[in-house]
Amino acid sequence: MTLTRELLRRLPKAELHVHLDGCLRPETMIELAREQNVRLPADDAAALRRYMLVDNVRNLEEYLERYFVTVAVMQTSRALERIAYEFVVDVAAENVRYVEVRYCPALHTPALSLTQAVEAPLEGIRRASKETGVRVGLIICGLRTFAPSVSQELARVAADYRDAGVVAFDLAGAEQGHPAKDHAKAFAYAAGHGLHCTCHAGEADGIDSIRQALHVCGAQRIGHATRLFEDPAMLEEVRERRIPLEMCLTSNLHSHAVTDLAKHPARRYFDAGCVVTLNTDGRLMDGVTLTDEYWAAHEKLGFTRAELDRVIVNTFESAFLPDDDKARLVAQVKHELGEIR
Ligand SMILES: [Zn+2]
Repeated sequence: MTLTRELLRRLPKAELHVHLDGCLRPETMIELAREQNVRLPADDAAALRRYMLVDNVRNLEEYLERYFVTVAVMQTSRALERIAYEFVVDVAAENVRYVEVRYCPALHTPALSLTQAVEAPLEGIRRASKETGVRVGLIICGLRTFAPSVSQELARVAADYRDAGVVAFDLAGAEQGHPAKDHAKAFAYAAGHGLHCTCHAGEADGIDSIRQALHVCGAQRIGHATRLFEDPAMLEEVRERRIPLEMCLTSNLHSHAVTDLAKHPARRYFDAGCVVTLNTDGRLMDGVTLTDEYWAAHEKLGFTRAELDRVIVNTFESAFLPDDDKARLVAQVKHELGEIR
């Protein structure tokens, strides 16, 4: 049996690490810019798609700047609802069954209140879930570059919407010089109010950043962790505690966290027995689909079909879902993976 991109597209998949503001359709951006009187760097969809692709930036900071462009057209409830809706429809097209999508509601203030900035995407998600059957969890991100008090406010609003679709709290943004420990109170509040926690760490900064995410902030999963291999003891802890790693191959290449996809540590982590999951990070910014990421893992890192099936199951098993729900979903997915040859 040969593994093809089309076969990978057909496999049931889940995604845990993707930014809503990194996944807009260029055509939608143009319409929203017109509605909100925003000037975009390009005004036809193809040129805009090319402009948004972050394959030419020098570092994570420059990579993150590209997000200013999308956030500028996400300043109304209508825009947020539509973007969330279209995102779910787009992932459904490549057989993603479960997705956790994240963003920082503070980036949509003061145009919107924090409450409006959370309710609008939740509405879009509900509408799309009903149409497509895709299950969706929303993750609220604090940003490292914002004051810790903002993160605490975001954790509070996240907790308020715990029963309405928000599943977790995350910390994102420029990593170096902005330690996660400064935001520990926000994580504690989120965890104390029944939310799950994940944290971007070990992408643009080293082991100490991962240590803070796990030991100070209580993260249950780690976003990226490309530098985890630098400390065998920490790698062993992550393996032993079965901390899922939210890996984003192409994004790490674009932000220069890795220099070559063929040398991405996802392979090493998988071989070491870690819980590796594959994710896009930003479909527009990184110019990829989840299928592309699975294809890259196969082509560049030699993941076999059996290994990719394991990654798929890992991803579902790492979902921030109630255990009984998750068990049902995993059983269903395992059955389907066995049927698709
Ligand atoms: Zn990310």
